[in-house]
Amino acid sequence: MKAGSPIADSLRASLAELQQHAARARPDYATRQRWLAGLQCIVTEHQAEWIAALNADFGCRSAVETRLAELFPALEGISLARRKLKDWMRPRRRGVSPWFWPARAEVQPQPLGVAGIIVPWNYPVFLALGPLTSALAAGNRAMLKMSELSPHSGELLARLCERYLGRDVVRVVNGGLDVAAAFGNLPFDHLLFTGSTRVGRMVMQAAAANLTPVTLELGGKCPLLIAPGVDVARAARSVVAGKLLNAGQTCVAPDYVLLHAADRDAFVAAVRRAARHAYPRLADNPDYTAIINRQHLERLLAWRDDARLRGARVEALCDEDDTSLLAACKLPLTLIEQAPADAAVMREEIFGPLLPIISYQQLDEALAHIQRHPRPLALYLFDNDRSRIAHVLDATLAGGVCINDTLLHVVQDQLPFGGVGGSGMGHYHGYEGFVTFSKLLPVFRQSRLAGTALTRPPYGKVVQGLLR
Ligand code: NAD
Repeated sequence: MKAGSPIADSLRASLAELQQHAARARPDYATRQRWLAGLQCIVTEHQAEWIAALNADFGCRSAVETRLAELFPALEGISLARRKLKDWMRPRRRGVSPWFWPARAEVQPQPLGVAGIIVPWNYPVFLALGPLTSALAAGNRAMLKMSELSPHSGELLARLCERYLGRDVVRVVNGGLDVAAAFGNLPFDHLLFTGSTRVGRMVMQAAAANLTPVTLELGGKCPLLIAPGVDVARAARSVVAGKLLNAGQTCVAPDYVLLHAADRDAFVAAVRRAARHAYPRLADNPDYTAIINRQHLERLLAWRDDARLRGARVEALCDEDDTSLLAACKLPLTLIEQAPADAAVMREEIFGPLLPIISYQQLDEALAHIQRHPRPLALYLFDNDRSRIAHVLDATLAGGVCINDTLLHVVQDQLPFGGVGGSGMGHYHGYEGFVTFSKLLPVFRQSRLAGTALTRPPYGKVVQGLLR
């Protein structure tokens, strides 16, 4: 998108207006509390509209999942920010080198100006309001770009932000890939992108031209490692819950399972039971979310069929006929074993309910598998042996770790959230989110009692001696 096109011009004009508001006065504590209260109203006063918008975006989006995985965590994040804001905003004392006593030093967090936030379609409320909470708490204005695949949520957010926050604080932009590309070219003071690793690369390149710092919340394959001899039935229930929330369309969903060969049969039997218990029906079950569109459904079917054609054992955990499932754009949990390493399901982020299972003989083989692949956004480990857990954490590097469950580390607002390597860079949520959208201003205050002679010319023998 060239600068000078009508889309680019209108986005630049919006940014310039927000920059003018930001330059006029830094928002104080009361203003930020008012903004955060506005965010709370956007969620609490409009729950039914959110549920309807997400249902329209997905074709079928479980209302419980919308409450559980979008509205509830968004509200939790806003409440924490409101409770902690005073503490986050206060200047923090730092030590001063004894050479400069009795001077003082402190760090003052300051707003950066206007933040850009790019949002994917899979959790459009949580992944818009989460970063927005951090940006507003830190005293910034913000522009958000919503995904073209979740237009109903995007329209609702635009309307509610205008009503509760006003156009001098937040602007929400909707539109296709041309709008997205133009948005990524804007000279924001900080840009937080959530989406695929492929697009994240393009976003970072565009941001580099403006020297805009980026936080990249990307994707990848999240391994789930079951140590030998643990309770596989318990692990299976967590795997099913974590994999089938939003039908697997979750950045931190367990992508594949690594387990000891001796536990394989018991685990597969437990997954069958757990999946049937959680979702007795799929096609007409309002609690089982649909795949976002035909294109993604066909991608998943192609990857499944490719694995089967190349010798993998494929088992769909469902008795319903394909026609009614496909008409509803739904896919059952499908176990895939012995797929070749270069099959798409083994290489690419799955982002759907296909679950490769890899059996190992020695735990170190499983660790070597994780180490050979890009650093994941989340690592799941089922184990109760402290020293083995320490060994696994020592041998791997992931965006976050959740032990003996799935997904729940993401909704702990006091923990930072963010990937590493291919799964992203930087953090948000809680205090780290506030810091991400702040300039940490170092301030040195000289004391009236300071003796300055030592560090100023003409340099005497004492300082020369000290520096030797
Ligand atoms: P995507 O990368 O296709 O799109 C994400 C957003 O980027 C959309 O709003 C899109 O319009 C926009 N976009 C597209 N091209 C752009 C460009 N050239 N410049 C700027 N913006 C552009 O991702 P998606 O399909 O919406 O979401 C799925 C991916 O997101 C998965 O890989 C998933 O793992 C990842 N994800 C990561 C997290 C996380 O927190 N790390 C959370 C959710 C999803």
